[in-house]
Amino acid sequence: MKILVTGGAGFIGSHLVRSLLADDTTDRAVTVLDALTYAGNPANLRDVKEDPRLSFVRGDILDRDRVDRLLAEHDAVVHLAAESHVDRSIADGRSFASTNVVGTQTLLEAAARVGTGTFVHVSTDEVYGSIAAGSWTEEQPLAPNSPYAAAKAGSDLLALAYHRTHGLDVRITRCSNNYGTHQFPEKVIPLFITRLLAGGRVPLYGDGRQIRDWLHVEDHCRAIRLVLEGGRPGEVYNVGGGTELTNRELTARLLQACGADWDSVEHVPDRKGHDLRYSVDSAKIRDELGYRPERSFDEGLAETVAWYRRNRGWWRPVSATAA
Ligand code: NAD
Repeated sequence: MKILVTGGAGFIGSHLVRSLLADDTTDRAVTVLDALTYAGNPANLRDVKEDPRLSFVRGDILDRDRVDRLLAEHDAVVHLAAESHVDRSIADGRSFASTNVVGTQTLLEAAARVGTGTFVHVSTDEVYGSIAAGSWTEEQPLAPNSPYAAAKAGSDLLALAYHRTHGLDVRITRCSNNYGTHQFPEKVIPLFITRLLAGGRVPLYGDGRQIRDWLHVEDHCRAIRLVLEGGRPGEVYNVGGGTELTNRELTARLLQACGADWDSVEHVPDRKGHDLRYSVDSAKIRDELGYRPERSFDEGLAETVAWYRRNRGWWRPVSATAA
């Protein structure tokens, strides 16, 4: 099976590529299509780059000719390429609309045209908006608040439309906040870890009472693979991690893990339109595909902090562009 992974040099995509290549099979080839934006890093694939089953194509998902050629050569696509940082979308949303909406449409169109087998579209719980109590099922209407989430919601609707209109085998995952190694240090966990390890201060938005569910990136990649291998066409699958924390609670854990205290925290004005809480109900992927998160947050966080401690050469060169 030949699998195209868009955004495979990013955080989640590179973990997915490692997972796909970890299987001892010669009957698999993986191609990464990645534009290497500020968030893409070839070093994320360093440990698998000699694997003869892996090919890397530097290119843009908006490049229609290249996308057409690549899709014709593959049996399945896992689509992760995106502009992914909410704060950047608030500062300037244009690249979010072009990459996340038009880029996804470009891939869907090509997949429908050349008859690609399966198209897994990796989306986010943020498309549902904010929920004060309870959890969303996949039936929840979309009500995104940030330009990032709105662009992802647009791409989800396009993906479902290509299934209904063209019969394309599209499957969508909507996951909660991922954490783990190789995450660009603009997202809260790697931002705080790298700043604290460098002896700096960390910014806590507003009152820090926003609640997020944390999902280890390896659990997420297992869920993506379950959907790729056994999901149903036209279906959406929520993927949660099972650890809900306020940002204050998360900050306390990061301070402890990095040997710092609350003097290292700078209280900053809240993010515009900041969603209070996200929470997905993962019953569907659990009951249909047997998914359960396996990584405990405490163990996963300790391992993540240890990785950033050991790999300063990975994050020092990029942390100046992360603020
Ligand atoms: P990331 O920002 O680390 O990586 C994105 C990758 O896409 C980068 O390698 C970048 O170079 C590439 N890319 C960007 N624009 C491109 C373009 N036009 N053409 C080709 N490649 C391009 O993102 P991530 O955190 O790994 O997220 C991957 C996917 O998962 C995204 O679709 C995101 O919306 C979704 N997601 C992420 C999280 C999370 O917590 N990180 C949560 C929910 C959903």
